[in-house]
Amino acid sequence: MKTLLCRALLMMMCVTLCASLLTPAYALSVENSYNKARKAYFELLDSPRKQKYRDQWLKVRKLFLQVHDLDSEHQRSADALYMAGKISQGLYDVSYVKDDLRAAIAYFDQLALEHPGSSLVDDGLLIAAQILEEKFGDQKRAIEHYRRLVSIYHDGDMFAAARARLKELAPEALQVASPPPPARVPAKAEGAIIGVRYHTYPDFTRVVLDLEGNASATPGFVKGDDPRIFIDLAPGDIGVLKQAIDLGDGRVRQVRGGQYRNDVARVVLDLDAANPYQVFTLNDPFRVIIDISGPLSNSGPVVATSAPQKLNADSGAHPGATVTAQLAAAAMPKSAAGASPSSASKAAAASAATVKLDEQQLAEVLDSRPKEEQPHVKLPENKVGRGVRIVLDPGHGGKDPGAIGPRGLMEKDVTLALAKALSAQLKKRFPCEVILTRDSDVYIPLDERTLIANRLDADLFVSLHANANRSRKPYGAETYYLNFSKNDDVIEVVARENGTSLQKVGDLDMILLDLMANSKINESSRLAAEIQEALIDGLSRKYSNIKDLGVRQGPFHVLWNATMPSVLVEVAFISNRREEKRLADQRFQTRSAEAIATGVGHYLEAYNLASN
Ligand SMILES: [Zn+2]
Repeated sequence: MKTLLCRALLMMMCVTLCASLLTPAYALSVENSYNKARKAYFELLDSPRKQKYRDQWLKVRKLFLQVHDLDSEHQRSADALYMAGKISQGLYDVSYVKDDLRAAIAYFDQLALEHPGSSLVDDGLLIAAQILEEKFGDQKRAIEHYRRLVSIYHDGDMFAAARARLKELAPEALQVASPPPPARVPAKAEGAIIGVRYHTYPDFTRVVLDLEGNASATPGFVKGDDPRIFIDLAPGDIGVLKQAIDLGDGRVRQVRGGQYRNDVARVVLDLDAANPYQVFTLNDPFRVIIDISGPLSNSGPVVATSAPQKLNADSGAHPGATVTAQLAAAAMPKSAAGASPSSASKAAAASAATVKLDEQQLAEVLDSRPKEEQPHVKLPENKVGRGVRIVLDPGHGGKDPGAIGPRGLMEKDVTLALAKALSAQLKKRFPCEVILTRDSDVYIPLDERTLIANRLDADLFVSLHANANRSRKPYGAETYYLNFSKNDDVIEVVARENGTSLQKVGDLDMILLDLMANSKINESSRLAAEIQEALIDGLSRKYSNIKDLGVRQGPFHVLWNATMPSVLVEVAFISNRREEKRLADQRFQTRSAEAIATGVGHYLEAYNLASN
């Protein structure tokens, strides 16, 4: 077992190394600068002595503004502007200098202007409006801010509060403000590639093309000395792929693209070897996902040419059989909610991509069809050659900060720290392999997270979160597993974690009962119970005021489609001052991780999988 563990660890190290090679150096320095600023901020908040000095506040604010200056378009630049606003507001509470409040409003306004797509904008606009109203008595500008929030960020979590206040202040403004919501981003061409994401996992490399609107995606494969996958998007616009992306992770050398015809864009993935691959699409928003499996080649990173090769050469090089790779576990399209189950599966089939291959490739693709096509109850089993495989999912990330604490702590940063701590704890205790759905501050849509776990054939899926409430009072820990039964009590938590409105959660229909048949309700409920019990027990030994909110059930999107026991842990309330402070503390993170690992251990003991 020792060698098995070593091999698993070695593999993980390799994966981590490969993943870090993919991170551009400047992004690393933006992230490092942000972490430095964040650390300084929480040190300031922990020191009443430091808080008395103006220069201490300005020093920390400057650190955040340096992040913004490094790369004003980086996601962290939005986070940094928000923090600069929060710090200016905090400074006023000590200084009573009105200019500090003016600065706070200016930073929140700058955030709204430079990063209209950031989920922090509505938080900032609401604070700015409240400052204008309460501290400056400037109703006119306050109304402007409330109105801007209500008219643009109607899906945001500050919408209800802003709308209620606007109704009191200027009901006539509300009538003008509500319909129609202006578009947040300027319209782009249908089928334009607006983002390319990629990550190297132990068994496969995933490349995701984020598209504007909808397009048909037709993949093809070219064998030979330079094996490559190509995907024709119609209508298609090469968009951000004008410049080739070097991956060099040992499976994919580079991703490049070209305008194949006027309205057809061709994306090419140059591979290290002719390995099996899968192409499928997800809706809402539309994405093309390419998974390349097979071992990592040991040739190491390859320097790829940035200029796209002549793409027409590929044309006609792929006569062969046609197979439709269906993705049964495609994301539920919005239009399918409320429709009959059969139309939902049709919708999933319609989103499948057509793969053209020769016979050998056809056999490989059929062999590598996703497991989720044949749902079956799956219990943890000690696979030959590896231990239990656990996928940890740090909630939120990138443009989605999750809930934000009163001191500005962001849920996405807490969940990532918790996941890293939990990964270390699990690997220390059991012969297991732990894989994170994200190991940096990146955005991953909810439906892709369980698909990662399914593709990895994981044995357990644990999504990590911090709870929040509109009131600062609630605190405690709770663990959820998937259920679609309607329960008004949990709807608010579900709405926040799903990133939808309360109304949309209410719209969940009978159709979802289909998904329930595949979710491991009994196993998930037992895993949730073990984690919850261990979490309360472990934390109570070190901390006072640990409240057991119990095991609960809810229709959490991130748990849909999971083919293994899966739970969502809300470790503590980030909206509660005491618990926010704990969540930011590395010792609390480690103790929470130890406790959750103990719970996972108790769960695995039933299968004799927890011993070395
Ligand atoms: Zn969350």
